[in-house]
This record gives sequence, C-alpha cells and structure tokens, in this order.
Amino acid sequence: MSKSALPGPVVRPGILDIAAYVGGESKVEGVDRVIRLASNEGALGPSPKAIAAYQSIASEIHRYPDGHSGELRQAIAEAFDLDPARIVCGTGSDEIITLLARIYAGPGDEVLYSRHGFLMYPIAAKSVGATPVAAPETNLTADVDALLAAVTPRTKLVFLANPNNPTGTYLPAAEIRRLHAGLPSHVVLALDAAYAEYVAQADYEAGVALVDGAENVIMLRTFSKIFALGGLRLGWGYAPAAMVDVLNRIRGVFNVASAAQAAGAAAVADRDFLARSREHNETWRASTAKALEELGLTVTPSVANFLLVRFPDAPGHNAETAWEVLKSKGILTRKMTSYGLPAYLRITIGAADDMRATIAAIAAFLRA
Ligand SMILES: *Cc1c(COP(=O)(O)O)cnc(C)c1O
Repeated sequence: MSKSALPGPVVRPGILDIAAYVGGESKVEGVDRVIRLASNEGALGPSPKAIAAYQSIASEIHRYPDGHSGELRQAIAEAFDLDPARIVCGTGSDEIITLLARIYAGPGDEVLYSRHGFLMYPIAAKSVGATPVAAPETNLTADVDALLAAVTPRTKLVFLANPNNPTGTYLPAAEIRRLHAGLPSHVVLALDAAYAEYVAQADYEAGVALVDGAENVIMLRTFSKIFALGGLRLGWGYAPAAMVDVLNRIRGVFNVASAAQAAGAAAVADRDFLARSREHNETWRASTAKALEELGLTVTPSVANFLLVRFPDAPGHNAETAWEVLKSKGILTRKMTSYGLPAYLRITIGAADDMRATIAAIAAFLRA
C-alpha cells in the first residue's frame, strides 16, 4: 500500500491559519558590523550586573531551576513594589500570552485586539482554535469605543499592548479604566506593558492599580526590551490570585531557566542602569524623530523605544526600497507589511553611533 493512502495526522482547526511569526533579521551577508534596529532590544544592552549574575551560575547548570522562580519574583516585587505571590514568570511574556489564550479561549470564542496590535495576539488566538477579532484604531492608536463596540457574547479575552508595538502610541490610564468598566466581568483584559519602563507621561499607568481592583485584569511585562535580556526569554505577569493559580497549573513546571532567573533578578535591581537606559532612549527618540521629520518623513508620536516612520509612496523612495537600501548598508529595520502598514518602517532606538549612522543613511537614500 502506498504511504499516501494512509490517513495522516490531523492538525486541529485554526493552527494552519497561522502565518508563522517572523522575527526581525539579525544578519546581513557580507557586512561585519550589523546595526540591529529591528527587534526593539534595549539600546545599551543588559546591565553588567545581569551579565555577571548569568556567568556566576555557569557551574550550576546541571541543576534544575527553581520551578517557582522564587528569588526572581521577590526581586521583581521589590523593584516594582508588588506582592510576589501575585507574580507569575514565563519564558518571555509570549509564553503568558499563549497560556492566557489556552486558559480562557477556544473554538467558537473570540479574542479581541486593536487593528495594529502586537501580532502574537491573533497567533495565540488561532493556536487554540479561537477567532481573533481586530477593532479599528484612530490615528494609529487603540480606540476604546471601537474595542467596546466589537465585544460580543463570544468575546473571552482582550489583549491590549500599552504602549502598543508597532505604533508606539499609548492610551492614558483613564481610557484604560473606561475600557475595563465597559467589559463584561467575565472577559479577561490582558494589558501588555512590554514598554512601560520607557514611558514618562504623567497620565500613563502600566496597570497595577487596575489589577489590584479587579478579578479579570492581568498586566504583562518583559525583560526583553529595556532590560535587554531577549536571548534569555523572560517575562512576567501580575494578576489576581485566582488567575495566578490557574497560570501556575498550566505553565511548564520548570519553565524559566536558572540563567534567566539569575540575570533577571540582577537586572531588575540595577536602578542606575535602568535610569541610564531610560535617559538614553528619551534623548535619542526625540532627536531621531526630529531629524527624520526634517527629512520630510512622518513619524508617529512614540512613548516607547522605537519609531514608526512613514515613507513616501514614490517607488524609488518607498518603505520597501528604504528597507532594502538600509539593509545593504548593514542597517536592519522592521518592515510593517504583516501589520497592515506597508508604507512604514519600525526603527528601534539603538546606540548613539548607530542612530547617527541610520539618520545619515536615510538622508542619503531620500536624496538619491
Ligand atoms: C516584545 C514584545 C513582547 C514579547 O516579549 P517577550 O517577553 O520577549 O516574549 C510582548 N508584547 C509586546 C507588545 C512586545 O513588543
């Protein structure tokens, strides 16, 4: 009997609808020093204390990690003034996003997000057979009225990145509270605050107060952005006790590697390095935005560590060509076609020299 006559393995509904997530590129053929502005990795790299903590456990890696990430949760709790019992750690906040979809949604359910929200949300929804629903945005910013209008009896989970990636825009705390107040109490609101440490706006809140006052809100955070530990895969959530309990039942027993726990605890305790990272970002975000606007480009107002930049429609000067030309010079930025924003590139705020080189390369490209 031929092999093809036998029934093959059956993939559950939804899985094959997923377009696999494509991360930012990191290498360019023939270029030694690549400038990596495609993945929003912290410009200054990790705290030297995090690197030292990582190295210090090298001789212990035959040991299983602490399955409860106890010291790491304690360090996070101290840094952010939280109850460690209400923190759950994961292999990147991506893991927690996926777990939330598994816990709260399934076939027939809807998972709501905003039109240009983080791509992991529809991927997580489809991975459990649920239906992702995108609510329209206004001026590349999440729109609370549009989100609430998109809620149906099938809605189980709402993901909102605040600030949002890839737009860099944010909603003030009052708007987030209005969104929460308008949701049915059984719908989970996941506030993804991956870039919270970068935000200086007085009307911004990452979500702690909302989590403390509700049963259906979780705040997600990551070590991949300002703490620059993306290679270790580390994120965390702060949630009501009942939600933490469910996440602890379903997550990998030893999900967070010992090296990640050690480096994360040291990173979060290094307040000086955090302040310097923030300051660097404020300075270079402002000056890069100004320089690009002076070149005639449209820059979306950003409170995070990247800029969403609109290029002209003219064939020789459009975003696609800009991406190619920058890449040929070893400068990697992020194309936005998968986010439905083909006229834009997302450019991470990197080290000072990298930003100078990038601005010069874009100026030369637009003149050519
Ligand atoms: C980068 C990013 C994450 C994922 O971070 P990891 O902790 O590396 O998984 C989550 N949400 C948003 C909006 C991001 O930009």
